[in-house]
Amino acid sequence: MKNLFFLLFLSINFVSIAQEFSRADTLRGSITPERAWWNVTHYDLKVSVNPSEKFIEGSNTITYEVLERNNIMQIDLQAPMKIDKILQNNEEISFTSEGNAHFLKLKKKQKKGKQNKITIYFSGKPTVARRAPWDGGFTWTKDSNGNDFIATANQGIGASVWWPLKDHPSEEPDNGMKISVTAPKHLMDVSNGRLIKVIENYTTKTWVWEVVNPINAYGVNINIGDYVHWSEKYQGLNGTLDMDYYVLRENEEKAKEQFKQAPMMMEAFEHWFGPYPFYEDGYKLVEAPYLGMEHQSSVTYGNQFENGYLGRDLSRSGWGMKFDFIIIHESGHEWFANNITNNDVADMWVHEGFTCYSENIYLDYHFGKKASSEYVVGLRRSILNDIPIIGNYNVSHSGSSDKYYKGANMLHTIRQLIDNDEKWRQILIGLNKDFYHQTVSSKQVEDYIMQKSGLDLNVFFNQYLRTTMIPKVEYKVEDNKLKFRYTDILKNFKMPVIAIINGKEEWVEPTSEWKTKEFSSSIETAEIKKDFYVITEEIE
Ligand SMILES: [Zn+2]
Repeated sequence: MKNLFFLLFLSINFVSIAQEFSRADTLRGSITPERAWWNVTHYDLKVSVNPSEKFIEGSNTITYEVLERNNIMQIDLQAPMKIDKILQNNEEISFTSEGNAHFLKLKKKQKKGKQNKITIYFSGKPTVARRAPWDGGFTWTKDSNGNDFIATANQGIGASVWWPLKDHPSEEPDNGMKISVTAPKHLMDVSNGRLIKVIENYTTKTWVWEVVNPINAYGVNINIGDYVHWSEKYQGLNGTLDMDYYVLRENEEKAKEQFKQAPMMMEAFEHWFGPYPFYEDGYKLVEAPYLGMEHQSSVTYGNQFENGYLGRDLSRSGWGMKFDFIIIHESGHEWFANNITNNDVADMWVHEGFTCYSENIYLDYHFGKKASSEYVVGLRRSILNDIPIIGNYNVSHSGSSDKYYKGANMLHTIRQLIDNDEKWRQILIGLNKDFYHQTVSSKQVEDYIMQKSGLDLNVFFNQYLRTTMIPKVEYKVEDNKLKFRYTDILKNFKMPVIAIINGKEEWVEPTSEWKTKEFSSSIETAEIKKDFYVITEEIE
C-alpha cells in the first residue's frame, strides 16, 4: 500500500521516534519467549458484525504445535477490543494483560510436538480507521443506495486491532484459516480464499471463507457490502485460475471495463515472477471504501475505476497513466508480501521495493523496456533519503518510506548490473519459487540475488538499504579523455556504470580515486546512463 503524502508525514514521525522504542514496541515486534514456543498451524476465526452499533464479537480457535514446553502464551488484541473468555479443553484459562499483549496461563501440560487448540472469545467496538488504509481498523460507510459498506484494513497497526492472534509477521498459520463473518442478510461478506458455505440465520447470514495456504495476518480481511459478483477462468502457468470480482452494484459497469487489467496483470507477473502463488485460494479483486490493500487472495480496490494513482501519474513520465495503480500494485504484492513475506517489518522493502518495481515490470511486459525505465526513473523525485530503508529490528519499526521508490530503483540498478534480462527474470522467478510461502529476512533475499547473479553486492546492499547516501559519480571531459570518480560511497563500494559517450554506451568502473579513460575521438557529449540510481555531476 502506499500514499506519497502520508508517507512523507510518516517518515517525519519515524525520524523523531527512531531512537525511542517502548516495551509495547518490543512486545509487538519481537519473538518474545511467550511467542517462541508455539507455532500456529490454523486459525478458525468467527466474527459477527453489527453495523448499527459499530460493534463486533466472535471467537478465534487457534490450533498450534508445541515447539518447546512452556505454559505462558502471548496473545495480542488491541484495546478497546477485549477478551471475554478463553477456553482450552472446556476449561477457562486466566490471563494477565500488559497493554495489548495478554499472557495466558495454560493449565494443560504443553508437550513438545503436540497439536493443541485454544479458543479466545472477544468483543468490542474496534478502532475506527479515519484514513484507511494508512491508519487502520474498521471503515464504516454507506454506498449511494444507503446500504452499509464496511471493511477492515490494518497493515501497519496490525490484525490484532480487531481479532486476537499471535500478531508477528514471522507467524503465518501453516494450514491456512477459516473466516466466518456474520452480517445483515441483505449484504454480503467477502473475505480471503474461497467461499465454502453460506448459513442463513434469522436476520443475518454467515459467510464462511476458507484459505488453505499460509496467510500473513494483516492480509486477513472483512468486506461487507451490496456486492455484485462475476468471474472468469484464467489459463495460467499452474492451470486454471479462478479470478473473481466483487464491486458495489452501482459500479458494476465501470468495474467490468477497468478490471480487464486484472488478467493483463496476471499475464505480466506470471511471466516475470512465476506462477500466481495461491491458485488453490483463487484471486479476487474486491471493491473497498478506501484506496486499496494487498489482502491475500482478495486484493481490495478503491481507485475510482480510473488509471493512475487516484488519477495521477506518480512518475510524471506519462507511463503511470497507462495502468490502474491499485490493480497492479496491490496485486504485485501477491508475489512480494503474501508469497514472500518479511519476518520483521524492518525489512518491509522486500514487500514494497519489489512491488513498486512490479509496476515497471508490468509496463515492461505490455509497453516495452523504455516505458519501464522512464517510469521507475521518474519515481526518483519522491525519494527522501531521510533515514535508511531498513528499520530497527524487533520493535515493529519499518524504516523509511524510501522502501518504495528507492527500493524499486535499487532493483532496477541491479537489472543493469546483471546486464542479462533473462537471468534477472529467472532470479525473480527463483525468489518466488525458493522462498515459496515463506517469511524471510532482507539478508536472505540479498544473499539469494548475490548467489544467483554471481555479483558481490554486499557493500552495494549496505549502501542502498542501510545508509541514506546515494553514490555520486563526478566526471570531467578533457578532449578525448573522460575522468571520473565516486564520492558519497561506503568503503569498498564497487559498481560499474554505463557512460554514454558521443551517443555510444561504455561501461566504466569508478572508484573513490579519479580514473581516466581515453577514447579514439574527442568527446562531444558525455552522460551517465539514467538507469543506474546514482547522482551525477559534471565537473567543469
Ligand atoms: Zn504496497
